[in-house]
Amino acid sequence: MPETAEAKQQRTTPPPAAGAPAALPSLRYLKGMTPKRFEALANAGYETLEDLAFHFPGRYLDARELVPLNDLRRHLRQPVSVRGKVISANYIPSQRRGRAAIALKDDSGGALQLVYFDYPEWRSKQFRKGDEYLAAGYVGEFRNIIQIVQPPYLEHLTNPEEFVQGHVLPLYYLSPALRKAGVTDKPFRELIHQAVDECERVGLFDEILPTTLIERHHLIPRAEAIHEVHWPQSPERVQLARRRLKYEELFFLQLRLSMERQRMRSSVTGVVKYDVDHLVAALQQPGESTLETSGLAEQVLAKLPYKLTGGQVQSLREILHDMSKAGGRTYPMNRLLQGDVGSGKTIVALLAMLVAIENGYQCAFMAPTEVLAAQHYDTLTKILKSTNIQTALLIGGQGKKERKQILDAIATGETHIAVGTHALIQKSVRFQRLGFVVTDEQHRFGVAQRKALIEKSADTAGSEAFEHDMFRIQIHSPSAVTPDVLLMTATPIPRTLALTLYGDMEVSTIRELPPGRKPIQTMLFYEHDHPIIYKAAIRRIEERGEQVFIVYPLREKSVKVDSEAAEKAFEYLKAHELKNFRVGLVHGKLSSNDKQEAMRRFREKEFDVLIATTVIEVGVDVPNATVMIIEHAERFGLAQLHQLRGRVGRGSGDSACVLVASEKLAVSESMQTSDEIEQSSLALERLRTLVATSDGFEIAKADMQIRGTGEVMGLKQSGKVRLRLADLTLDTGIVEQTLHDADAVILADPQLRTPPNRATREEFLRLYRDAESYLHVG
Ligand code: ADP
Ligand code: MG
Repeated sequence: MPETAEAKQQRTTPPPAAGAPAALPSLRYLKGMTPKRFEALANAGYETLEDLAFHFPGRYLDARELVPLNDLRRHLRQPVSVRGKVISANYIPSQRRGRAAIALKDDSGGALQLVYFDYPEWRSKQFRKGDEYLAAGYVGEFRNIIQIVQPPYLEHLTNPEEFVQGHVLPLYYLSPALRKAGVTDKPFRELIHQAVDECERVGLFDEILPTTLIERHHLIPRAEAIHEVHWPQSPERVQLARRRLKYEELFFLQLRLSMERQRMRSSVTGVVKYDVDHLVAALQQPGESTLETSGLAEQVLAKLPYKLTGGQVQSLREILHDMSKAGGRTYPMNRLLQGDVGSGKTIVALLAMLVAIENGYQCAFMAPTEVLAAQHYDTLTKILKSTNIQTALLIGGQGKKERKQILDAIATGETHIAVGTHALIQKSVRFQRLGFVVTDEQHRFGVAQRKALIEKSADTAGSEAFEHDMFRIQIHSPSAVTPDVLLMTATPIPRTLALTLYGDMEVSTIRELPPGRKPIQTMLFYEHDHPIIYKAAIRRIEERGEQVFIVYPLREKSVKVDSEAAEKAFEYLKAHELKNFRVGLVHGKLSSNDKQEAMRRFREKEFDVLIATTVIEVGVDVPNATVMIIEHAERFGLAQLHQLRGRVGRGSGDSACVLVASEKLAVSESMQTSDEIEQSSLALERLRTLVATSDGFEIAKADMQIRGTGEVMGLKQSGKVRLRLADLTLDTGIVEQTLHDADAVILADPQLRTPPNRATREEFLRLYRDAESYLHVG
């Protein structure tokens, strides 16, 4: 309930907390705040009233969506919201694990048991017979009793009329730590309500969008929207409020990106205009150019044992168009080449690199893992064998002398293509004339690493000042060159999203796979199915001489633990199921040389089975391997699983991918908490997506929807994009709208100096303290 004005005045207004807006009191002085709650909130990142006011409900409980209790059996293992009266509340002691069991019933004649394992005795005393509750969670069943174990949401209806037809209740995500400190649903709502009042009082919800945009898109006023999300009046109005708030979040993000784009384009110097005509002509009329008159790229193209697919040709044309800087283009290429696993991106990149080399520039080809970098190096050297192109591999674990030779060759310009991991972006690597940069499996790289590589071109001229912006490096010296950049990924993203995430970027897409590829049969099993899985794999080895991958997941970022799982499996399988076979092992703890050696031996069929961690995730190409077994499959991301699956199906044999889910995902005989059911349902849903489709584009979409865009694109950590409500994948309509609106605003008023943009300017400066220069220069 909102506090009365009188009560507010009676409280002494404390001094402002450090860092908070001047007029905003500290959280500490809110009514209902205890030291314990205060500390728990601080630990959870709530430091100011504003943090609280902008903590929006994760979902809403709509009275119209309540499931009658006699209907719950149809919703087993699904999320539901229910309402019921307590008919009994008991503490059931047990030697192993005591529990509280609360029986609810409703008018439908059905019943539901709520179960608590934490503080069960205390819990059982909190419920009084006849009291009404709302509960939400995943429905389970144990010994024929329908239950929700440890329901994540529970609300006592002190006044049973308060939650009726048409009513919506905001539900906030509260971590277990917060709940343990007594910050549960109702007290938290009360804290939020006070915070909203305070923030409103100091003018924090004043309008920040230009009036024209509000009118054009029929957005509701800001303060009204914030009120509505916290005190919802109807689901329809909540939708309006959320749309308004999403719009403003995305608009300010787009404003910043738009400024960065404009600034970048207006100040770029030193772009290379590559002469691309030869290769363009050769793509037009394949086979017509004679080897004598044609350049390097055409020769390589003519000698390929296959014909490029339509998608490859089209993408290459687009890349060449950017490289030529046709149409008076004054900024370098920044193009994303997306194509499913196995669509043949590497050769496209190579042909473009050859054009850059013919024009006198060096290229850098970066891969996210050493294994993949080494493989790319092998592939490139093989294709370029009959040319005089010099390729170098720079990765960790190379001897001091060898490394120096490689670095020298790169610095003198003798090396045309430097292949490597992030080793390429170390300070010690200097290029003579870096003109073209490829990063493969771009989604695996951090933004920062990419930027650092692009900076390298500065080494050519020594002392240029670099200007960082979000996704680009600019060079202000006219003597330096900003390299063209080609990013490659098998995790596709929509164009507006690409533009939003990477600023200034074009996208090429290879839609088809080369002809003749056989689909990979994907199957879902549990750990208890191991005997039949191994048996089937062994049959492949014995009868067809094919090879098998068995992959174990990374655990908690720790290379050590990660490797242990694979090592243990290696020792065990070698002594048991696979004792008659040659088994190899590769994991992150191995030295770079040992890793490559293991991969080489597998590729040359010295091993039948390769036990591995995710070091083989991307790019690895072993055509004779036809079985991919992925253990604890639920621990991988979808895109990752799709990549792993792409390690097979590369030859002419038909291939299989076996997803082995952990036993705990199997429907078990024991009681499962709501959270456990939720997790296993979501995990199984993801794995089933993979079984159902082999289309990387579909999978990427599903992945983003399940995990959220930020996580998928690695933006969570970047700190630049902080979206509370908007989702870059799901809200594409608003993403696009705000992109155009922001561009138009910046074009008309680059510094946001006109009166209609005054509030927008102030908010911009408040949001992006680090970007002040955008509005002060020029
Ligand atoms: P990805 O796009 O996943 O990086 P690769 O570039 O590794 O794919 O190509 C996968 C395999 O397909 C390689 O062995 C490559 O030689 C082959 N390949 C590429 N293009 C074609 C094509 N047009 N026809 C047939 N095979 C091709
Ligand atoms: Mg690849």
